[in-house]
Amino acid sequence: MTAMDDADLIMIIEDEAKIAHLLADYLEREGFRTLSWPEGTGALDQIRTHNPALVILDLMLPGMDGITLCRELRTFSQTPVLMLTARVDEIDRLLGLKIGADDYVCKPFLPREVVARVQAILRRTRPPATELQPLATEEPALQYRNLTLYPERYRCEAAGQGVELTPLEFRMLQTLMSRPGRVYSREKLMELCYTDDRIISDRTIDSHMKNLRRKLNALLPDDLIQSVYGVGYKLG
Ligand code: CA
Repeated sequence: MTAMDDADLIMIIEDEAKIAHLLADYLEREGFRTLSWPEGTGALDQIRTHNPALVILDLMLPGMDGITLCRELRTFSQTPVLMLTARVDEIDRLLGLKIGADDYVCKPFLPREVVARVQAILRRTRPPATELQPLATEEPALQYRNLTLYPERYRCEAAGQGVELTPLEFRMLQTLMSRPGRVYSREKLMELCYTDDRIISDRTIDSHMKNLRRKLNALLPDDLIQSVYGVGYKLG
């Protein structure tokens, strides 16, 4: 799949209008957009033009059949293909032919089942933003319970969800996470987290820490940052 694909667009190549409509209907209810094409002829041009996120492809089509179409498609695109077949025993045969389809569904099917398969294929072939692939030379992520910090990407995730942090909040959290349990005084935090020489007060650290905790606590069941009375802050 290219990075330029149309993320919500599902192309349905199916000559039985009733089936095409039914699938379009169910997919659109799940937030997809759909485009139907009723024959093999011209289908590849349609895929080239619209660059869909996934193609639902019927096996028996007028013009070019689904097997040939899928093979042709694979010569220029990795767009996932969900193949519709009329007989269960066809699926074994198709698997043996290695035509490059990502999944198969046999007719008659429940439209809901097809939608679930579409979603599963998209999940598999396109990891969501929260499952970022590690960069080759990336500084290791910091992990504490359900909190993850990716220093080089300036990304913080709490319970799998991204949290928007200011650069200062990020550095404070990074400092605490580098040594869980260690108490950092306000002075130490200022020294480690402020990159310029502005004169700031203890109260400034407190207010930034308060904002940081509020953001994390919106997503986490427990307050992971503790204030240690008269000293400073720690994680855990
Ligand atoms: Ca057909």
